[in-house]
Amino acid sequence: MDGSSLPETRSTCPYCGVGCGVLLRPDGSGGLTVRGDPDHPANFGRLCSKGAALGETVGHQERLLTPLVNGQQSTWDQSLDLVADKFSSTIATHGPDSVAFYVSGQLLNEDYYVANKLMKGFIGSANIDTNSRLCMASTVAGQKRAFGTDTVPGTYEDLDEADLVVLVGSNLAWCHPVLYQRVMAAREKRGTKIVVIDPRRTASCDQADLHLALTPGSDVALFNHLLTQIYEGGAFDKTFLASVQGFDDALHAAYADDVAVTGLQQAEIDRFCDLWMRYEKVVTVFSQGVNQSTSGSDKVNSILNCHLAAGRIGKPGCGPFSVTGQPNAMGGREVGGLANMLACHLDLENADHRATVQQFWNAGPLPQQAGLKAVDMFRAVAAGKIKALWIIHTNPAVSMPDADAVRAAITGCDFTVVSDVTARTDTARCADVLLPATAWAEKSGTVTNSDRTLSRQRAVLAAPGAARHDWDILASVGRRMGWTHAFDYENPAEIFREYAALSGLAAAFGRDFDISALADTDDNSWDDMQPQRWPVTANRKGGRFFADGRFYHPDGKARMLPLRWRPPAAKTEPRFPFRLNTGRIRDQWHTMTRTGLSPRLSAHLAEPFVDIHPEDAARLGISRAALVRLTSPQGSAILRARITDAQNRGELFAPMHWTGETAPAGRIDSIIAAQTDPVSGQPESKAAVVAAEKFQAAWYGFAVSSREFRPNVAYWARARTQSGWRAELASDVEVTNWEDQARALFGLPDASMQMVADTARGAYRIAFLEGDKLLAALFVSKAPVAVMRDYLVEQTGHPASDVLTGLTPADRPNAGPVLCACMNVGVNTIITAIEQQGLMTIEALGAALGAGTNCGSCKPELAALIAARQMMEAAE
Ligand code: SF4
Repeated sequence: MDGSSLPETRSTCPYCGVGCGVLLRPDGSGGLTVRGDPDHPANFGRLCSKGAALGETVGHQERLLTPLVNGQQSTWDQSLDLVADKFSSTIATHGPDSVAFYVSGQLLNEDYYVANKLMKGFIGSANIDTNSRLCMASTVAGQKRAFGTDTVPGTYEDLDEADLVVLVGSNLAWCHPVLYQRVMAAREKRGTKIVVIDPRRTASCDQADLHLALTPGSDVALFNHLLTQIYEGGAFDKTFLASVQGFDDALHAAYADDVAVTGLQQAEIDRFCDLWMRYEKVVTVFSQGVNQSTSGSDKVNSILNCHLAAGRIGKPGCGPFSVTGQPNAMGGREVGGLANMLACHLDLENADHRATVQQFWNAGPLPQQAGLKAVDMFRAVAAGKIKALWIIHTNPAVSMPDADAVRAAITGCDFTVVSDVTARTDTARCADVLLPATAWAEKSGTVTNSDRTLSRQRAVLAAPGAARHDWDILASVGRRMGWTHAFDYENPAEIFREYAALSGLAAAFGRDFDISALADTDDNSWDDMQPQRWPVTANRKGGRFFADGRFYHPDGKARMLPLRWRPPAAKTEPRFPFRLNTGRIRDQWHTMTRTGLSPRLSAHLAEPFVDIHPEDAARLGISRAALVRLTSPQGSAILRARITDAQNRGELFAPMHWTGETAPAGRIDSIIAAQTDPVSGQPESKAAVVAAEKFQAAWYGFAVSSREFRPNVAYWARARTQSGWRAELASDVEVTNWEDQARALFGLPDASMQMVADTARGAYRIAFLEGDKLLAALFVSKAPVAVMRDYLVEQTGHPASDVLTGLTPADRPNAGPVLCACMNVGVNTIITAIEQQGLMTIEALGAALGAGTNCGSCKPELAALIAARQMMEAAE
């Protein structure tokens, strides 16, 4: 059926914690049209490039469609019986703490609720942790220490109303693009000042009034200094401090720190403090640069200290604001997905809280202590203490620090179950049992975004094959393990009602998370539920917390903490002189199991890279586009060099998205040490120590093919294109017969071939054709291959007579690599428009080319190209 006649369905984007509303319409051929929901309070119709490309990621080509046991197709009954039997027998023999669940911020609240209930309520262990541990556990710990509960005080409207937005360890422009667009709109409207605190210059710095490129890990010293200036400048709020304990001790500790460790100029530190003092309405947005640190919890509290001291919290346009990484990271915190929490912000260590939950669930005794947090959980797997492990919708064999050790631990576990939408992940390849789960567009439930807004995710596509919903899979195992009544759910609305009812009991303990007014929501009302910010009670809906000075510690007061700066756990040394920061890029999400399906998104940055300062590159003999080998005590990785003064000297940046499926040598977390914050258990992902050297390639290659191919050389990185695949290649091993090599690479033993060889220079150009249609092509050179990649990608699968030049025909402009993914505008097209048409504003480029007119995620890069041209003109 033609999808245009179908109504649109309101749902929520499954990527970042902004939680944008989307309107979905099946296109009648298995895909979706997607647009931003103009009525959703998170985005008011905006989407970023990832959200806008969601429709390209819902195909079934790589879906896991049936249960697999030891690689063999199985039935659901057999598979679930096996899972239940193995978990039951392991528990019977070795006790409840011999099993574990490792789950994900991709789960919906209802999935999470059932997983948590099964593990903590009925198995009787707290060994359930979530990949949100890698995301914002330090914020959870910091907020609990300061406020007595894990509460985000403010709302997204604060970003619209702030006079000063401070971004700390947050590349908001790339990682939460729709929030960044909100900040940009506020700047346009009211002149909002922006300060970015980040060791590297990111896209978020393009519009900033001030960028503080501080020494990695020195945030506490900077905010301690700010606290002293708040005191000396008289900006502290005496009235509000009556609701706060610990001001004197915190101030005393702050004076003992030396802001010089930040490596910043005093003038820029003074300017930051002046701005903070001048503007009452300050929002401090913080993210992974703060959280993913061995002092992450202290960094969070150093920020909270300043806002508490000045009373700038919970008021319009004011407050500390943690933005979460995953779509339902916040929901996981609320529903007890972390090993150290119960559902509804109740505490595992509190006997009254445990008794209430036990009674509510009609369960056995709940565990009295926190379970294993992510890093310790996989160490326990490696040590053989965890003997049955269930991993749900996450890829720890890639995303955990010391990822090779984690992969080995999972492989060596007595019994590993993986629930996922695909079998093509590094983790799924280690599983004994693979369970096919429904994907985002096929499942219904609720998620909570960074500002506490609960939104509905709605199914718009049928589940393919035998795929089942996560809550259903978990409940089925629970029933098979003997807890028939406790897991006798018929639909997710029923689970939601139970969750909402439990929150009412939590509220009786004075907890903040309370959605008890939704406990009687019937199925139809749940279907229609509109986005709403918690709390949702008979007396209160949404709003901000803490402006009234009421906190959740037993005495009702907040806590300021005495803090001292601590350097990252790993120290640079002559063998490992560089500090390596890892993070995200604009158009990819986590380990690319979804965004990697979109050729558009893969066109922006198609291979793993390392950013290195020009002086460091020159010293190491690393030229533009060379390959770099990074080595740490944990292992080594090979990445493409991007030489840029956005990096400080001695510091490197590499993205975290590439996997064994897409670039095995680029699995960056395999070289990151598993060192954690002592309070939150969150690993340090932004301050590893490594050595860098040029990878001595015997040859470099670039390949395109209309069919999937998997190279087998020291370095390769592949990505999907509209008509097949592309790959970058390199090896330190010479090849003697390039025809054989190319045929083996593409699996084309008999195809018609054209080759241009320059053996003296080691340059080969090989094309395989079927008639005049290009099946595949390989370009090889002693130096990084210089061909027009986007042109070759376009030619693949089409009649092509002149591809061996590797260049666009003279009568055809070369658009260059895609910069605007939504409107498919290449960087060369934009540069030409700037230089030849004099289009010197983002608006003018948008009007002429469409670039930046959809999601706006590329606007910082457009601005950078314009600024570069302006600098050139000024210098001429
Ligand atoms: Fe999705 Fe982008 Fe919105 Fe995040 S900002 S929820 S990735 S559309």
